[in-house]
Amino acid sequence: MLIAVDGPLASGKGTIAKHLANWYHLPYLDTGLLYRACALGVLQAEQDPTDEAAAVKSARAVDRAALDHFQLRSAKVGAAASKVAAIPAVRQALMDYQRTFAAQDGGAVLDGRDIGTVICPHADVKLWINAPAEVRAARRHKELVERGEKISFDEVLAQLRERDARDAGRPDAPMRRAADAHLLNTGDLSIDAAFEAARRIVDAAQAEHS
Ligand code: C5P
Repeated sequence: MLIAVDGPLASGKGTIAKHLANWYHLPYLDTGLLYRACALGVLQAEQDPTDEAAAVKSARAVDRAALDHFQLRSAKVGAAASKVAAIPAVRQALMDYQRTFAAQDGGAVLDGRDIGTVICPHADVKLWINAPAEVRAARRHKELVERGEKISFDEVLAQLRERDARDAGRPDAPMRRAADAHLLNTGDLSIDAAFEAARRIVDAAQAEHS
């Protein structure tokens, strides 16, 4: 079974995708890490994330080992990731890794922004996870503060809005809900309740297909 989980920053998609992967015993790929690893490579080379040649060179060097770096989760790398992700040649360079992962026997769970629309348009189940911007910013702020970053809630909210606009506004593979994706709003839900809701959607889709 191939499950595509998309949605904006801090919508809960990563947590839900991870729980689904555990529940159904499927391998899991957080595709945001690929863009973050690419961005980190550019920043470490002291290049600009909007520099196409530098970003593509870094994207081509991304491998499994690059996805474990602690710095990948920082706010700085996240912002740079959304810049390299707007470059079509970067997206192209990272496509094979994602499609190969998705094509494993037995299926997989992938989360990102364009999994249901571009990477796996034929996924068995597609979920679009969302929550109001303020709720997402509060979650992200808590996460960053726990990591030791000094950043205010207002700054996180402003960055989140900027990132959403960039991800949804880029011409190539913009972040958007696939027409056949099930909508799940996690704004008022606990992690357990959100996972339960996602699992019910997947079970219902599975029953429909069998
Ligand atoms: O999900 P995460 O915040 O780690 O993603 C970082 C950035 O990578 C996103 O803001 C987005 O620009 C990009 N991304 C993407 N397509 C994906 C996953 C992430 O463009 N499938």
